[in-house]
Amino acid sequence: MPIYDTAIIGAGINGCSCAYFLSQAQQNVILIDQDGIAAGGSGAAGAFISPKFTKGGRLKELLEEAYLFSLDFYCRHFPEHIQKAKLLQIANSDENAVRLNAFKETTTLSFSEESSEVNPILTPYAKASASLVLEEGGVVDAQAMCEALAEGIPFSKKKVASLHYVDGVWQIGDIRAKRIVLATGSYDLVAEMPYLQLRRVWGHRIDIKTTTKVPYSIHHHLSISPSSDEGTLAIGATHNLHYNPFGDEPYDLESGREELLEKALKSVKLENVEVLKDYVGLRSGSNDYLPIVGQIVDADKTMDGNFDSAALKKMSDKSFTCFPELYMINGTGGYGFVLAPYLAKQLSAYITDKTALDPELIPSRFFRRWAKKQG
Ligand SMILES: Cc1cc2nc3c(=O)[nH]c(=O)nc-3n(C[C@H](O)[C@H](O)[C@H](O)COP(=O)(O)OP(=O)(O)OC[C@H]3O[C@@H](n4cnc5c(N)ncnc54)[C@H](O)[C@@H]3O)c2cc1C
Repeated sequence: MPIYDTAIIGAGINGCSCAYFLSQAQQNVILIDQDGIAAGGSGAAGAFISPKFTKGGRLKELLEEAYLFSLDFYCRHFPEHIQKAKLLQIANSDENAVRLNAFKETTTLSFSEESSEVNPILTPYAKASASLVLEEGGVVDAQAMCEALAEGIPFSKKKVASLHYVDGVWQIGDIRAKRIVLATGSYDLVAEMPYLQLRRVWGHRIDIKTTTKVPYSIHHHLSISPSSDEGTLAIGATHNLHYNPFGDEPYDLESGREELLEKALKSVKLENVEVLKDYVGLRSGSNDYLPIVGQIVDADKTMDGNFDSAALKKMSDKSFTCFPELYMINGTGGYGFVLAPYLAKQLSAYITDKTALDPELIPSRFFRRWAKKQG
């Protein structure tokens, strides 16, 4: 067995994007997943590529940059796995209309109010709500895109229970690698990170067949994709904060479908609907809603010795002790397909060229907040 430059644990959109960029940078990479490519949340995603239609803040800025980058990246390198279309964003409440109007004032993206092509299929309620049209949106074929990104990269199907660093090399059973990237989504964190709690949000989406032709991506109470040539389209997704797929209770597909169709019908007069396929999965978000990308702090080693809150204040993030060559990419919430290529490119550049990462996104921000509370 060779010693790989990087072993990536988790073959969702985050892991597959990292594998793509690291192998483009001539790294010898292996992908490891307990189930398969896009077997987690990524396989469930509607994979709509859109910015965040809100007034401001770091997440909005980040998503705007990532939307532009990733749309261009997918279209340039994998055009067969993305369906491009105009994107109609409709406000779903008064509060949401205020945010949409603020977006119009602050965005760098060009948009119009023109939606005549799609108007005939909209409900009166949707037509009466505040809206805008982006010239460019996209819907990715989630499974095919992850597979395409991972093409040619060695894959090992195994569940990783723990990590061992021996003589400067990470060992995962018989696999050895100089570094590890954890891209494990909403599953248990394989490394010791007492300072990091992930928010897990269950989601359900469906593919349907309908005689109604939808020309745009429509985002309102949920997202509706444009129709394919065969008259199928994707509707998604629900946001269920309470359902835990790791518990004993089975998920009620019927009520999920009802919720999806009821919300879709608030926007579009869909006719002769037949549900073709259900997709379910978990999104994984951080407590500050920003993604998490970078080297992982070793809390025990950093807190060893004379550690107190006064010392913490004086410490820069750079002086925290990190696990050797252990990185992560996670917390992309409901925007994994928007963020993953953009963030994976940055993580790859950080690993290979030590190009700085955005300090607002690195895992140590959670260590600092947690350590402060430890006193
Ligand atoms: C219903 C739904 C709809 C969505 N819609 C959109 C959308 O329209 N647009 C958008 O951009 N995003 C969307 N998302 C969000 C997006 O899917 C996620 O942000 C993205 O999938 C996160 O990718 P990931 O690679 O971090 O995690 P995952 O895709 O969950 O991948 C993690 C992988 O790690 C593996 N793994 C975990 N632990 C281990 C271990 N110990 N050993 C081995 N393997 C392990 C798992 O098997 C899994 O395959 C949606 C999500 C859901 C659930």
